[in-house]
Amino acid sequence: MSRALLAALALAATTVADTCDTVASQTSITILNPLTLAYTESQGEYWSTACSDLAPSCILEPETTAEVAAIVSILRDNNETFAIKSGGHNPNNYFASVEGGSQISTKSLNEVIFDPATETVRVGPGNRWDDVAAALDGTGYTVVGGRIGNVGVGGYLVGGGLSFMSAQYGWAANSVVEYTLVLANATILTVSETSYPDIFMTLKGGGNNFGIVTSYLLQAYPQGDVWGGNLIFDATPENSAALLAAVRDFTEYYPDEKAAVIVTAERTLATLADIWVMFLYYNGPDVPAGVFDNFTAVPHITDTTKTQTYSELVSGNNWSVLKGQVYTIGTETTPLPSAADGPEIMGAIFDHWVNVSDTAALVPGVVASIAFQPIPKQLASIARSKGGDMLDLDADVDRIMFELDYSFLDDADYATIDTTMRDTYGGFQSIVQGYQASGMLPADAYLPLFQNDCFYPQNYFGRLRPEKLALAQQVQAEVDPDGFWTERTGGFKIPA
Ligand SMILES: Cc1cc2nc3c(=O)[nH]c(=O)nc-3n(C[C@H](O)[C@H](O)[C@H](O)COP(=O)(O)OP(=O)(O)OC[C@H]3O[C@@H](n4cnc5c(N)ncnc54)[C@H](O)[C@@H]3O)c2cc1C
Repeated sequence: MSRALLAALALAATTVADTCDTVASQTSITILNPLTLAYTESQGEYWSTACSDLAPSCILEPETTAEVAAIVSILRDNNETFAIKSGGHNPNNYFASVEGGSQISTKSLNEVIFDPATETVRVGPGNRWDDVAAALDGTGYTVVGGRIGNVGVGGYLVGGGLSFMSAQYGWAANSVVEYTLVLANATILTVSETSYPDIFMTLKGGGNNFGIVTSYLLQAYPQGDVWGGNLIFDATPENSAALLAAVRDFTEYYPDEKAAVIVTAERTLATLADIWVMFLYYNGPDVPAGVFDNFTAVPHITDTTKTQTYSELVSGNNWSVLKGQVYTIGTETTPLPSAADGPEIMGAIFDHWVNVSDTAALVPGVVASIAFQPIPKQLASIARSKGGDMLDLDADVDRIMFELDYSFLDDADYATIDTTMRDTYGGFQSIVQGYQASGMLPADAYLPLFQNDCFYPQNYFGRLRPEKLALAQQVQAEVDPDGFWTERTGGFKIPA
């Protein structure tokens, strides 16, 4: 072995333990070490087992913003990679997970403090959305958050955040009024629209490129009982056609800003069991006549909809969070086709998904799902009226944002599914572009990607408006000129 290689290995050996050892010797921050129960349990919190399999050298659980800043200071003095983890629901490997470096878990930054006087709630990134909903239960208020309770607050909000209340109040990020942020130089900033307007904007969909958010101050909204639950349908050709038409119509005619749906098709490829699972939500105890009729008229095999508290609904949706599988997530965006062209275009997209998912049928345990997520003009308008965000949707067109998921049993099949995922969203983009070229979809529609649903190679920042990308680059140059977050931790990175 050459001396240079020995020196490099020695350096690697010392840097691997560096952050954990230094935090242990210089601070009283809680550290979970490998081969302990607490470490193993924490690793089990990821949605995807592929993230759980990446083993950090230790897990750091700071309890205060000052402790997060102390960790960042220590990281500045070495060259280790690290991960920032909130709920661990992002299934992209190395985004909130790391092999060998330290993991900063926000788990103990878990405050939920409601202030009725200002109608705001201070929420720590260590919470999951069902924790937040439960803490606010009975106050008569809630915040705009995740549709499935188990999703974490931290990653969801820096990714924008699509909520059941988004047609009413915008992206979840539009209701953040203040961030507590630890910068790359370990400075702590209180970021609001007036204190640091550019950083404030970039945090609304800019991911983890600007710092670690240790607290979110969220606008609270009056909240009573809600109506919602699931409908499950057999995926017969008739049902599929009816549901595709219904979700198209719902997006265009958006019947009521208090209403929301996620329309999901699922294929368990080994058994050829194809179903549709629909999530319905109405922000009130009773649904006005007609709001969901196009969906409820389709013959269904299960109906769990009922009036319940918001907290019950959000935690009730946790049934859909199945652990023990490797997950991948991806997305694409289409302008909404007209009612006349809907059957052809929605049908082409659906058929493409069926055909590509078939190519992965031999992967053990594979389940393919596609969610049709309505993004009506109304959402774009309300988002802009609340000050805007990095996605900066216009109200020129209605849109559908697809969420694609492939889950499977064995990490060894990741490369196969990686190709399948790229083929799925890549094909969607080709289909959309084809219909734009033929004039059946608006050619000049702005079609960004929704970060929270992006697969790791997708060009989130490249699909934003050029001025938003330029803002992200400018703020990054100001607050992280050395590329600390870019070089040292995973996530969607700002292109130079
Ligand atoms: C079952 C399920 C349902 C979902 N439903 C929705 C939904 O309704 N709406 C929606 O918008 N998305 C949804 N998503 C997507 C989800 O929002 C993203 O996966 C999001 O990244 C998860 O948030 P998290 O806190 O669990 O993230 P993590 O996986 O912990 O982190 C994701 C990314 O955010 C960064 N990050 C985390 N915390 C912080 C912080 N405090 N400061 C800076 N960076 C941070 C991490 O470094 C990482 O890069 C869903 C995902 C799943 C699996």
